[in-house]
Amino acid sequence: MSEYKTFSADEAMAFADKHSELFGDHSKLTAKEFGDGNLNLVFRVENDKGTSLIVKQALPYARCVGESWPLTTDRARIEAEVLKMHHRFCPGHTVEVRYFDPVACAILMEDLKAYRILRTELNAGKKFNHLAPQMAKYLANTLFYTSDFVLSSEHKKAEVARFLNPELCLITEDLFFTDPYCNHERNNIEPAILEKAKTLWHDEALKAEVAALKADFLSKPQALLHGDLHSGSIFIDEENCKVIDAEFGFYGPIGFDVGSLLGNLLLNYIACPGLHQAEDAAEQQAYLLQQAEQLWQHFSQTFTELMSRETQDPALDNSLYQRRFLQQVFSDAIGYAGCELIRRTVGLAHVADLDSISDAGKRADCQRLALKLGRELIMQRGELSNISQLQTLVRYQH
Ligand code: ADP
Ligand code: MG
Ligand code: MG
Ligand code: MG
Repeated sequence: MSEYKTFSADEAMAFADKHSELFGDHSKLTAKEFGDGNLNLVFRVENDKGTSLIVKQALPYARCVGESWPLTTDRARIEAEVLKMHHRFCPGHTVEVRYFDPVACAILMEDLKAYRILRTELNAGKKFNHLAPQMAKYLANTLFYTSDFVLSSEHKKAEVARFLNPELCLITEDLFFTDPYCNHERNNIEPAILEKAKTLWHDEALKAEVAALKADFLSKPQALLHGDLHSGSIFIDEENCKVIDAEFGFYGPIGFDVGSLLGNLLLNYIACPGLHQAEDAAEQQAYLLQQAEQLWQHFSQTFTELMSRETQDPALDNSLYQRRFLQQVFSDAIGYAGCELIRRTVGLAHVADLDSISDAGKRADCQRLALKLGRELIMQRGELSNISQLQTLVRYQH
C-alpha cells in the first residue's frame, strides 16, 4: 500500500494476516471493528481456532467529533514507538506491538481479550491487590530508563525530538489546564454544579498554580511519558495488568503519568458513595486509598533503587539531589492528580465513574467533592511531604 486509506474490516484482516505468522497458512479469518475509544479504529481479527490479534488504525480526524476535528495520523507512530520502548523496559505490563505500518498508520498488537478494562472493574466494585505494585513497577521502569539518569545528553535530545507530538500535547494542554478554568464551549458542565464550576474561573490563586503545572507540562522533558494513563488505558485480570493506548506519549514531567493514575484512583474513590451501597462503598474506598499509598510507595522505592544503582551521569549520581528530585515528582504528581479530578468533572472528557451514578443528587455531590478535592491537591501539593498526608487530606474532605 502506498497511500493512507481507512481500513474496512476486510482490509484490517488482510493486514493482520500479511504481517503475522500467528494465524497459520489457510486459516479462516474474521474481523470486526469494536473500538469504544475517542479517536481511533480498533479491529479484532480472529481465526476459527480463536487465535486473535488487534489492529488499531489512526483516522485523520478525531473519531468522537468527526472530520471537523482533523488530527495527525502520526499519533500511530508515536503510539507504536512509545509502546515498544515501554515494553523494552517493562515487558510484563505493556501491550506487545507486533508490527507497525507507517503508511496505513496501523498497529498490529497482542489481543488482551482475556483481560478487562480497569475502569469498568473498579466501577463494579472489584478489587485487585496487584494493581498498585505492578503499575508502580511499570511507571518506575519506563520513566527511569528514558530519563537523563540513564540516557546520554545527545541521545536524550534526539529522543525528545523523535517524540515531540505537538498536536496530541495541545489537546492535553487545552483540556487539562485551560478549558476548565474559563467559560469554554468545549466544557461539559452539569447544571447542578454550574455555580461551583464558575468559581474555578475566578479563582486566581488556583489558576496561578494550574499555570505552573501547565508550564511544567510544556517545558519539563524528564522522561518518555505514556501521556494518557487513565483507568481506561489499563487492562487487568486476576494476576496481571497491561497498559495500552500511548498515542499521547511525549517527553514530559514524570509526575504527569504518576498523577494521572493517582487521579483516576481518587476519581473512583469519590464516586464510591454514588456507585455502591454504604458498606461496600466504605470498603472500596479503603481499598482505593491503600492502592494510592502503595502506588507511591512502590514507585518511589523502585525509582530510588534505580537511581542509586543505574545513574550514568556522575553529577546526577548524588543521593541528596535524587531525594529532592523524587520529592518534586511527588508534589507534581499530586498537582496533576488534582487537575485530573477537575477536568474529568467539568471538562470535555468525563469518566464513567462519575457519569454512571444514576441518582442525580448523589452525582452532583460527588462532582462537587471532585472539584473541592482537586483544588486542595493542586494548592497543597508543595506542603504534602508524604503519601499518608495525602490520605489524611482525602479523608478530611468529606
Ligand atoms: P483510543 O485511542 O481510540 O482510545 P484504545 O487504544 O483506548 O483507543 O482502544 C479502544 C478500545 O479498544 C479499548 O477500550 C478496548 O476495548 C479495545 N482495545 C484496544 N486495544 C486492545 C487490545 N490490545 N486488546 C483488546 N482490546 C483492545
Ligand atoms: Mg483509549
Ligand atoms: Mg487513545
Ligand atoms: Mg550510585
